[in-house]
Amino acid sequence: MRISIDRDGCIGSGQCTLTAPALFAQDDVGIVYVLPEGSDGTDDPSVREAELACPVQAITVAED
Ligand code: SF4
Repeated sequence: MRISIDRDGCIGSGQCTLTAPALFAQDDVGIVYVLPEGSDGTDDPSVREAELACPVQAITVAED
């Protein structure tokens, strides 16, 4: 699965980093970025939970 994030849309709520801490982190102002574990594609199913948990749909997951 490929992860796309909309950093302009992210409001820093943190659900993704709680749901999938191996894949997402937040910068100094709380905006999400994808960790190396997720940036080259992942088969971690928690990415789908993170996608659903984001309150502003800033995470998009595409199948390879
Ligand atoms: S859940 Fe969405 S809004 Fe919250 S930090 Fe993650 S990407 Fe940003």
